[in-house]
Amino acid sequence: MTAPVAHWLDNASFPGSSDRTAEVTNPATGEVTGRVALASAADAEAVIASAAAAAPGWAATSVAARTQVVFRFRELLNERAADLAAIITAEHGKVLSDAAGEVARGQEVVEFACGIPHLLKGGYSEQVSTGVDVHSKRQPLGVVGVISPFNFPAMVPMWFFPLAIAAGNTVVLKPSEKDPSASLWMAELWREAGLPDGVFNVLQGDKEAVDALLDHASVKAISFVGSTPIAQYVYERGSAAGKRVQALGGAKNHMVVLPDADLDLAADQAVNAGFGSAGERCMAISVLVAVGPVADDLVAKIADRARGLVTGDGTRGADMGPLVTRPHRDKVAAYVDAGESAGAKVVVDGREVDADGAADGFWLGPTLLDHVTPEMSVYTDEIFGPVLSVVRVETYDEAVALVNANRYGNGVALFTSSGGAARKFEVDVEVGMIGINVPIPVPMAYYSFGGWKSSLFGDSHAHGTEGVHFFTRGKVVTSRWNDPAVKPQGGLELTFPQNT
Ligand code: NAD
Repeated sequence: MTAPVAHWLDNASFPGSSDRTAEVTNPATGEVTGRVALASAADAEAVIASAAAAAPGWAATSVAARTQVVFRFRELLNERAADLAAIITAEHGKVLSDAAGEVARGQEVVEFACGIPHLLKGGYSEQVSTGVDVHSKRQPLGVVGVISPFNFPAMVPMWFFPLAIAAGNTVVLKPSEKDPSASLWMAELWREAGLPDGVFNVLQGDKEAVDALLDHASVKAISFVGSTPIAQYVYERGSAAGKRVQALGGAKNHMVVLPDADLDLAADQAVNAGFGSAGERCMAISVLVAVGPVADDLVAKIADRARGLVTGDGTRGADMGPLVTRPHRDKVAAYVDAGESAGAKVVVDGREVDADGAADGFWLGPTLLDHVTPEMSVYTDEIFGPVLSVVRVETYDEAVALVNANRYGNGVALFTSSGGAARKFEVDVEVGMIGINVPIPVPMAYYSFGGWKSSLFGDSHAHGTEGVHFFTRGKVVTSRWNDPAVKPQGGLELTFPQNT
């Protein structure tokens, strides 16, 4: 039997001493393709100690030298993106083109990090008081932990580690145990790019590894992405241990279609955003809010398109791959059962899909539910599968009230041909990322990614300027350098310093 997917310490594979492991499966075949090590507290200690030992040296390395390594990582990633995409498809199941898209979006943050010197610049004010100047600077934090979900095993870690590393921190990445191999592939790339030992480390595992990161005094900050209950737990435990924490949680993204929208565009985009990556995206559209008379036409157009999609093995040109595990596939199917029992109409039924793939793959086809109402579990819960629920409302105000009453606030989209309606919507909705005729409004790397309400705990969003601030601490220096030609200097003055 092959060895379990290992940890990464001091630029080398590290098997650890724990005897706990978890299965890794290929979702398109249902086969167990390997195992992953699940760290013990002692394994975590070893990996964190390596990151802590490397931190002072990396922080003292010039910003030019640091960004050159990041740039080399970018060049290598560019050359070999297809290899990483293939690893993602083999363990996650998303189709190859989608996996390649994930890598490309992660790479944008790597490219953004190459320009970090511009964002690390401080300010300088001369002569704020007589003979006194002030300047500010930003410094790295030390060791930072990145804890990532299964659905983007490359892109989500890349939302954080390029900036953390470029800013002078060392990183311990704790990937999802469902698709752990991408993390080691990226670790090897860092080594090849010339990153010194201990700057980028990987700790494989489950709750035990996460808790070790949350509690360890050497870990100064945590960037977490995952489901809302775990995000809240991570935020509370990490903050209680004195760390800076940004914890991005789950989502329930609405797409509101006004009567003046281009319905063909809206139908195309609802299918793309509802069923792409089998709905396993935190920015997937899971609720379509049809306003007024558009509902019947729109549902018919979406159903036509959804019926034409090929569900199958992501290596063979299918439109949509399997779900990540058998239990997850069954959980999503159970939500469809519950919606049907509660009175929703199953317009397209993915439960009996004829997939282009192995019999034991974790298949669930695109599913369209109409006449969903807000108290149904298919509406209230994050399902994280290829299930698009249509809620019918009469007015714009009802649509906005529905979006704002939802506990999540990650993404939302409005389809309309009215600039005025779009502008009002941007103001009215309580959601972090808004698309206007764009269904998945994932911000570019130089903006920051993050939701509101139960979709984010903490106050910093990922990447962009907020990401740079999250991974650095500010200092302000007030200094007096007197003119040596002027005598006498100083003098006693016990009042609170004032500017003169
Ligand atoms: P998850 O919450 O199950 O796991 C996320 C991470 O937490 C993993 O590394 C996992 O090992 C760890 N973990 C799991 N259980 C834990 C526990 N009890 N204690 C401590 N750590 C634990 O999430 P997932 O199923 O891997 O990913 C899907 C979820 O992530 C969805 O809810 C999705 O919306 C969310 N997500 C959010 C964003 C965002 O930007 N807001 C992006 C991607 C995914």
